Amino acid sequence: MSLDARQRAMLAEMGVRLFWPEAPVGEPPEVFEEAVFDAPAAVVEAPVRPRAPAPSSPAPQAMPRPVAVARDRLPGIEHMEWDALQQAVAACRACKLCEGRTNTVFGVGDVQADWLLVGEAPGENEDRQGEPFVGQAGKLLDNMLGSLGLSRREQVYIANVLKCRPPGNRNPEPEEIAQCEPFLRRQVALLQPKIIVAMGRFAVQTLLQTTEPIGRLRGRVHRYQDVPVVVTYHPAYLLRNLPDKAKAWSDLVLAQAVLRGAS
Ligand code: URA
Repeated sequence: MSLDARQRAMLAEMGVRLFWPEAPVGEPPEVFEEAVFDAPAAVVEAPVRPRAPAPSSPAPQAMPRPVAVARDRLPGIEHMEWDALQQAVAACRACKLCEGRTNTVFGVGDVQADWLLVGEAPGENEDRQGEPFVGQAGKLLDNMLGSLGLSRREQVYIANVLKCRPPGNRNPEPEEIAQCEPFLRRQVALLQPKIIVAMGRFAVQTLLQTTEPIGRLRGRVHRYQDVPVVVTYHPAYLLRNLPDKAKAWSDLVLAQAVLRGAS
């Protein structure tokens, strides 16, 4: 794939140098990790998921499941339509995060979108505005989407694993993820995206049920509810680790290639 002038301009704005690889498939595993996963105390065996089309790759292995899913909540949520789901999120009191929130943050974008981007949790700005990725990390994300000719209002839907802000922007706790995951699961089922980009370790852990580091999961295609998933770094991490923007760009190019191959 070659870069057109618009993409080059956007990349220059992002600080992305143009000699970066455009074809990330088959890259060697990264040694630079976003962060080491904290293995939660209670892990249970995850179902083995087939890996996407790599006939010569080694057999997939069962991986520890990083968070339990609150399965008792699934039956109530798994048949909800979009509006009911939104209302259920707005009224949710399933974990203690409801006590400190200003707004729930359901998601933003085009409900007909091919792309679903999944982040971690609302921060202070998102909690105030009720929309994901409206702070500095969101600006970077918007620029990255712009590089692909996409925007958060068209062709893309953006959601988080958690719909409420953890206090002080601390990491999500396993119990909070377990309670909130059924909402994301239902969003995916209703949106039926053609590609999911999991941004950051909590999105990756939750969608792929793995504790493998992002650096080892990048560059190949995973699955969540039969939807292809590409793994990448969280935009907030990229703000602190500028050289890794190149890798994130490669990840988006991979996602675009998967999407083009699928449609
Ligand atoms: N970080 C996230 O993961 N999500 C947001 O909505 C904002 C920052």
